[in-house]
Amino acid sequence: MSTTPIRPDPPPQEGRGEALVEMHRLYEVQRRACASSPAPDLRARLRSLASLAQTIDENSPAIAKAISEDFGNRSVHETYLLELVPLQNAIRHATRNLARWMRPERRRVPWVFGVNASWVQYQPLGVVGIVSPWNYPLSLSLIPTLDALAAGNRVLLKPSELTPAFSRLLQRLLAERFAEEELAVVLGGVDVAEQFIRLPLDHLLFTGSTAVGRQVMAAAAEHLTPVTLELGGKSPVVICPDYDVHAAARDITFPKLANAGQTCVAPDYALAPTAKTRALSEAVIAEARRLFPSISSNSSYTSILNDRHYHRLRNALDEARAGGAEILSCGDEPAARRMGLAVVLNPPLDCALMRDEIFGPVLPIVSYETLDEAIAFIRQRDKPLALYCLTHDLGYREAVLDRTISGGVTINGAFLHQAQENIPFGGVGRSGIGAYHGEAGFRRFSHARSVHQVRLFNVVNLAAPPYGRVARRMIRVLGSRRAADSC
Ligand code: NAD
Repeated sequence: MSTTPIRPDPPPQEGRGEALVEMHRLYEVQRRACASSPAPDLRARLRSLASLAQTIDENSPAIAKAISEDFGNRSVHETYLLELVPLQNAIRHATRNLARWMRPERRRVPWVFGVNASWVQYQPLGVVGIVSPWNYPLSLSLIPTLDALAAGNRVLLKPSELTPAFSRLLQRLLAERFAEEELAVVLGGVDVAEQFIRLPLDHLLFTGSTAVGRQVMAAAAEHLTPVTLELGGKSPVVICPDYDVHAAARDITFPKLANAGQTCVAPDYALAPTAKTRALSEAVIAEARRLFPSISSNSSYTSILNDRHYHRLRNALDEARAGGAEILSCGDEPAARRMGLAVVLNPPLDCALMRDEIFGPVLPIVSYETLDEAIAFIRQRDKPLALYCLTHDLGYREAVLDRTISGGVTINGAFLHQAQENIPFGGVGRSGIGAYHGEAGFRRFSHARSVHQVRLFNVVNLAAPPYGRVARRMIRVLGSRRAADSC
């Protein structure tokens, strides 16, 4: 049973908007549904996963079109390869494994409890809230949703207001396929989001910036709502001394340019041996030109979401240039907010590009003399969401793995750890709290209830008062002779 209060906050006051009234209504509907049917069985959960898969499959062109409309231009291939494919894979993986994940897990019982039995039962938490960002609006809304549905929960989903066409479409598609007591989309701006995170949810998964994540955790604390925070930050790529610069350029450039760099796990900046820095920067620019021979009118190249982000990136480049950095650029198409790759050689370490998450097609390259120096550079900063290590040398690999901490790592590539269904995905420290994907997602949205069953006799009765010989013997055998002798 959920320990959440039956009623949420007082209903919204008149005039606070229809969206808030609707949000509270949906919350109430789902809370009541939890009370009447707290644990959907395997068949019901598999049906939900199948409905989700079918909704995505049947509407993929419309989804890609809506996302592209929101971005100005979002490559259809990127929507399919980086959002739709991982989402469908995740649904297939959960469908194949759900029966096993749901099974109670037997645990060993210490001899003193005789033939009793212990197991862990995985229960739905109840109403799960999901707040998603704009950069991968499909997968970052629906992968946590499918994990929460697989775990038997009700889901209230609040997608980003910055992708209005997609969010409206998602609301309509899910409403056609799902009862609102199981899954519903709440639309609205930041004002609605601020109230959404204050609902007495049974779990809240937030994906977004670290700054908003902090507010989410504070708001959730009011109801002791457990949170999973999937946040951002600066994810470095370490090019070790042995690694070929052309191979490094191939490994880094597409992950940096996919979605025009607006990816939480994009390589944010590179650390390269001083002697290789220039060759690396030229190889990265050449690779970018090979991938995208022209930026102008190239529908494969995604636009920066809005003018605010476009100008933020341009200003950050200007600041780095003014601070003495050398910038190599593939050119821009400002009218379409298409920004070609810019490589920034040795930026001042206090400029915005090196302080804040870049979230755009800009790659600063920082030189190092020894690998120890590169490792120290990472350790002196917030723990990254992702870390990339390029090396064929076991010693270098172990040094980077053992002496840094990050949410996840891909070795000799980028991105790929987050596409693995069999390992958890999440951040650490300021890049996030908790992880999901695959079994980790199922567990994240389940309560692991401990169950112990007494069978032949209850050992507690042997030790009960009035205390005498048996109690003393138990203290001696299970605790210590000194303690037994003193009572
Ligand atoms: P954001 O934090 O501005 O917004 C994310 C969501 O929070 C949106 O739905 C928005 O409506 C809501 N929101 C905004 N202000 C709020 C407030 N005051 N209270 C409650 N909710 C609020 O983030 P964004 O710009 O949409 O996304 C970019 C950030 O997300 C980057 O930092 C990126 O690294 C991070 N991100 C992380 C992951 C991950 O898996 N770790 C994935 C994608 C993006």
